[in-house]
Amino acid sequence: MLKLVYDERHKLHRDPEDIHPEGVWRVEASAEMLWRSPARDYVEVIKALEPDYEAVLLAHDPEYVEWIRRECSKGFHYVDADTYVNEYTCDVAASFAATAREAALRSVETGEPWFILARPGGHHAGRRGPAMGAPTLGFCIFDYVSVATRALIGSGHRVMIIDFDAHHGNGTQEILWEEPRAVHVDIHQKWLYPGTGDLEDVGGLGAEGTKVNIPLYPGSGDAHYAWILENVVEVVRNIFEPEVVIVFAGFDAHRDDRLAELDVTESTYILFGSYLRDLLRKGEIRGVVAVLGGGYGNGMITSFIGFIEGLVGTREKPTITPTTPGKYIEYGLEKILKLLRRTVSTLSIRSS
Ligand SMILES: [Zn+2]
Repeated sequence: MLKLVYDERHKLHRDPEDIHPEGVWRVEASAEMLWRSPARDYVEVIKALEPDYEAVLLAHDPEYVEWIRRECSKGFHYVDADTYVNEYTCDVAASFAATAREAALRSVETGEPWFILARPGGHHAGRRGPAMGAPTLGFCIFDYVSVATRALIGSGHRVMIIDFDAHHGNGTQEILWEEPRAVHVDIHQKWLYPGTGDLEDVGGLGAEGTKVNIPLYPGSGDAHYAWILENVVEVVRNIFEPEVVIVFAGFDAHRDDRLAELDVTESTYILFGSYLRDLLRKGEIRGVVAVLGGGYGNGMITSFIGFIEGLVGTREKPTITPTTPGKYIEYGLEKILKLLRRTVSTLSIRSS
């Protein structure tokens, strides 16, 4: 069974006029369509845990947490040009952070996949706020993916993060920059907000090659994503041998999306879901936790369903002929993989 975390408390985080693109409707429509899909029989619905700021502190500095809680206590307002909070926002985000930690630890024990329908977003929130020079928090408050990853590393596990949200996961990257026990593959649109995520950004000292950035040009489409799954994600996984995969599942690379232009269809998400299902079934990994990321048009709903159906096996794996996104990616990747192999070899020495 897939454990699906759906909790009505996400609705508490909302702007009074309902005009922000990261609206309540995103989770509501996703859940409603899932109840009507064939995947429904393979899904167990679970509520989020109570807010726990200890979980948040796995990823963020206490000063940031104190500051954002103070902002939340003031009620609805924008803390920057993109990101609003209200009196509930911090608790809602801390609730999904606690849930992400729990899901990660339980998934690796039972081998069951999890999907957390979290709001607000997470991957742009850095240790102390906006990350890697970004101007804003980009709709995000706490980085659930980093929380889950840190919890797993603390229990001795190696983690692979796949972030296929159209925007770069600058918060996650900053938080885990010097962490060699987490490999982070981030597929995103080049030059889109927050502007980070260059191929040359490979991780800090001792973690070189564990941060794998794949910036794509607008219009890339399913064929490039299929190529990346085969030649980046699977190759990296094979070298790194993670026990758990944490996915930042943003569906804004879909061609309907109003914030990105990556031109992907549902097929890509079915493919990624099926891929993770196969890894679990073959025993290549012991757990999967996906957390909802972006997606701001109706395409995100069908993409979410596609990903879930791939993950539970109610949809056939689509046939997509992979095409390379370009020599610049191939050359850059070669260098990154060399660094990753070296870092992995030092990891094995340290743990043996
Ligand atoms: Zn996004």
